[in-house]
Amino acid sequence: MAAVAARLDLDGNRIRPMTICMIGAGGFIGSHLCEKLMAETPHTVLAVDVYNDKIKHLLDLPAPATEAGQEARHQPWHGRIQFHRLNIKHDYRLEGLIKMSNLTINLAAICTPADYNTRPLDTIYSNFIDALPVVRYCSENNKRLIHFSTCEVYGKTIGSFLPKDHPLRTEPEFYVLMEDASPCIFGPLEKQRWSYACAKQLIERLIYAEGAENGLGFTIVRPFNWIGPRMDFIPGIDGPSEGVPRVLACFSNNLLRHEPLKLVDGGQSQRTFVYIKDAIEAVLLMIENPARANGQIFNVGNPNNEVTVKQLAEIMTRVYSKVSGEPPLGVPTIDVSSKEFYGEGYDDSDKRIPDMTIINKQLGWNPKTSLWDLLDSTLTYQHRTYAEAIRRAMAKPVAS
Ligand code: NAD
Ligand code: UDP
Repeated sequence: MAAVAARLDLDGNRIRPMTICMIGAGGFIGSHLCEKLMAETPHTVLAVDVYNDKIKHLLDLPAPATEAGQEARHQPWHGRIQFHRLNIKHDYRLEGLIKMSNLTINLAAICTPADYNTRPLDTIYSNFIDALPVVRYCSENNKRLIHFSTCEVYGKTIGSFLPKDHPLRTEPEFYVLMEDASPCIFGPLEKQRWSYACAKQLIERLIYAEGAENGLGFTIVRPFNWIGPRMDFIPGIDGPSEGVPRVLACFSNNLLRHEPLKLVDGGQSQRTFVYIKDAIEAVLLMIENPARANGQIFNVGNPNNEVTVKQLAEIMTRVYSKVSGEPPLGVPTIDVSSKEFYGEGYDDSDKRIPDMTIINKQLGWNPKTSLWDLLDSTLTYQHRTYAEAIRRAMAKPVAS
């Protein structure tokens, strides 16, 4: 058998196999990270979540019921991923799993904007209170923690408070978001949208303080709109019909159902989108380069992929037409007010451009995939996965 080359970190040191307690492993980001770790590294994952649908393909398959006495079918990474179905809100097993691991990655959160203003208590509990024991167990047991925060901690840009045509709005210091320099600007309390950002900011500050006062080895990740296959759910197919996922799944759902894409308040907000597979490369570098990642806060996004939400809708419409072979709708988008779409208390981040200096310097990471290419592969997946199910659901007679 050919010898497998040793994995080396960015400083040329050999990377030892480690055990990673990944909380929220069954979600969108977790599923891609598990896939990467299984396919390309020798590390072991203790995958913690209340669901495992998105990582089922990675777990060993049970023996078919008809073939009594057969062993379960093993994956090539057999024995390196174990699923633990537990809710971190109330489960004594969590501390044991963290103690067994070299590193904990916490991805668990309520993180869909439709929940922030309609379920602010659940949002705050999930993003702050439920994360507290994870931080405490890591700190008390001298375990490294990679905690997933959000770009939303930056809130609104400084430039957004200037008049629309003010020349300073075009100056980078008025909109580029820097980990070690930009302020966090949220709206008033009645705009409950900011419950998520505020809870994430407080847990970031707590982790930072644990690092400063108690020596916790931590890395904070601020994702900037990571998108790709398996993100969220398609309402009425693999999630509640009245559910409102994030924009990629909302627009995919509209395209699959041949209905106009809804532009909240005209779709004027700007976002930068990064392909999940590029972003996962950054997380792997953090995992395997603790000396470079500990004590750091990292923006992870693609500043080159900026669009307004309206432009995103237009590009997705064109890409979907290409991958499905169906002509675009005559009226591809409609405007809807944020109050109608999300309810009272919604507010929005105006613009999100990540500064990449720190992640570049520490990890040498850069995103690669253009918006068109990442939408092409993602919408190909959405079409292949959902088009038939949607067609059947839409053909069912509606109960009178
Ligand atoms: P996701 O909702 O797909 O995944 C979160 C997972 O956590 C889910 O599988 C959920 O079941 C699990 N979970 C939640 N509460 C739990 C609990 N009490 N016990 C056990 N499991 C629990 O979301 P995602 O997009 O994969 O995001 C992961 C993290 O990254 C979150 O912390 C989110 O705030 C952050 N983030 C993601 C993005 C992005 O672009 N996807 C942007 C900003 C921040
Ligand atoms: N949005 C929209 N139509 C939709 C869903 C979302 O116009 O069907 C907008 C939303 O108001 C926001 C942007 O798309 O301006 C991105 O929303 P997402 O839910 O992905 O999360 P965010 O980037 O705000 O955290």
